[in-house]
This record gives sequence, C-alpha cells and structure tokens, in this order.
Amino acid sequence: MIVKRAAVLGRCMGVRRAVDLALRTAKAEKGKGGGQRKVFTLGPLIHNPKTVAELEASGIFAIHDRGGTGAPCFVDGGGNQLALSGSVVVIRAHGIPPAQSQALEQAGASIVDATCPRVLASQRRARDFALKGWTVVIAGDRDHGEVTGIAGFAPGALIVASPEEAARVDTTAPLALIAQTTIKREEYLAIRKALAARKPLLEVVDSICPATTERLASLADLATDCDALVVVGGRNSANTARLHRTALATGLPSWLVEEAADLPKEIFSFARVGVTAGASTPDEAIDEVEAALLGLRPQASGHRPQAIGLRPQATVTIDSPDLPVQRFTR
Ligand code: SF4
Repeated sequence: MIVKRAAVLGRCMGVRRAVDLALRTAKAEKGKGGGQRKVFTLGPLIHNPKTVAELEASGIFAIHDRGGTGAPCFVDGGGNQLALSGSVVVIRAHGIPPAQSQALEQAGASIVDATCPRVLASQRRARDFALKGWTVVIAGDRDHGEVTGIAGFAPGALIVASPEEAARVDTTAPLALIAQTTIKREEYLAIRKALAARKPLLEVVDSICPATTERLASLADLATDCDALVVVGGRNSANTARLHRTALATGLPSWLVEEAADLPKEIFSFARVGVTAGASTPDEAIDEVEAALLGLRPQASGHRPQAIGLRPQATVTIDSPDLPVQRFTR
C-alpha cells in the first residue's frame, strides 16, 4: 500500500499555538504557590480527546462558566463550583468576550490569552466599528464561542446565520459585516449580497481564515490520486466532520478515525490511501494512523514513518493581521 498525506493537514496555527501556550504555562507554574497554583482552560482547549487527555496528564483541566449575567461562577467538569483565586486560566483559540475576562479576573484568576491572532483581529475590528457607532453584523453560528466572543466586543452586534436572516436586518446605522473565521466563503458572499441589497453603506471585513479552505483544497488534490481516504480527528470536531463530508463527496470510500484502532479492515485492500486530518488533530494521531496503514509498529512521538508527502510540522505564529475591509455603497 502507498499512503499519501494531504499537502496541508492537521493542527492550524491557532490551535498549535494555544496547545503550546497551555503546556508551557503548566510547566512554568508547576510547583508555584506550594503546588496549589492550578492551570485551567475555559472550556476544552480544542475538540480532540487525545489532546484533552494530554493536557489533563500535564495537570490542565477544563472549567466552565455558569455565571451568566450574574456573579462569576466557574465549575469543574463535575459541576462543582471552583475558587479560582491564585489560579491561571488559559483562553482558547476561539477567544472570549471582555465580560468573561472581567468575570475571571473578578474571581481572582490570572489570564493567559491563547486567542488565535486571526480571531483577535476580528475582535479588534468589531470593537472599532462599534466605537464609531456602526452596527456590527457577524456571519456565523450564534452558538459558537468565537462568534459570541466577537459579539462581546461590539455592543448591539447582530448575528446572522443565513442570507434570509441577513435580509431581515433592520437598523438605521451603517453596517459592518464580519465573518466567523471558519465560515464557507460562498455562504459569506450570499450573506453579504443580502445585506448590500438593503443598506446604502456596508463595509465587509475579510476575516475568513485560510486554514479550512487550504485543508479542503488539499483534500480535493489528494483524492485525484488515491483509491480511498482517511480523515483523522475528533468526532466532536466540526472542522474534522466537514473534511469527512468533503471526502465522502469525492465518491471515494472514506472513513473518519480518531486513532489507528478505528481503521476498518477494508482499508487494507486499497493500493493508494490518502490521509488528511482536521485542524485540531495532533501530529501524533496522524503519525500513528499512517504507521498502522503502512503496517509499521506504533511510533514513539516525534518519530515519523516513511510515507509519501510527509513534511515536518513546525510551530508557526503570526502577528494579528490587519484584516482588509471592502466598502459597498449604492
Ligand atoms: S482562525 Fe484559523 S488559524 Fe486561528 S484557530 Fe481558527 S482555524 Fe485556526
């Protein structure tokens, strides 16, 4: 069997950075305050069970905000209220609204901000438009942490999930449209069109992150040269699920696996198998699946099996970009 990797796969810059930051924070805090200084993440850092297990092994546990608009109230996975005084809370790549940062500080926690620089840029744009008196419209999923986080920077922001919802936006203020970083470009364009038809002045921020599109495009390329596809990633990861739907849409037999043990027997009957992975999948999970396909023994972390298309994946960070804005008038 030949195993071929997608040219772009696995953890995106924002996720890689957030995991690195959390692990480095745990290491730096170890032993401080007589061992009482705890490190938490607000919500699971990413949607991948292997990474969550790795973080827990390093003493980093997820907590949840149950305070709503009342007094700060943070609970552990079992629903028990926590005293955060003296602890450190790592903010995940999706970011959080300013009110939640204030609640954490009020509860006595120190914050390590692992918000992705791309999301920070959207938050900054939303805040600046709101300060000018514009109405900010966010195109995306209203239950997604990134969207509620951005909305928190622009009081009065509206969230729309479809062109139909956009067509019902009713405000006299000029509009600024910002996208959830992972929205499909076609959906964003349709929402933009619906808003532009209603408003004489509309500014549109190009905040879509290339990470998703690059992984989808690489998968399309990979499919042209393979007989079957394997998508590695968490079952609860939205972007992994989207990659899997795209893999199925190619017409090739395709499977979503979290680890090598999930590989179906049939996969070993194919001559050329393509491997891709969601933006939250750790490198080790990809290596392990690839090694199993090649019939190799499980590899120690960092040891790469020989397969076509392998390339080392380094930690990449970027400065918060200055997102381009396009103006529409009529
Ligand atoms: S904005 Fe892009 S790079 Fe940042 S976390 Fe989201 S998908 Fe990853």
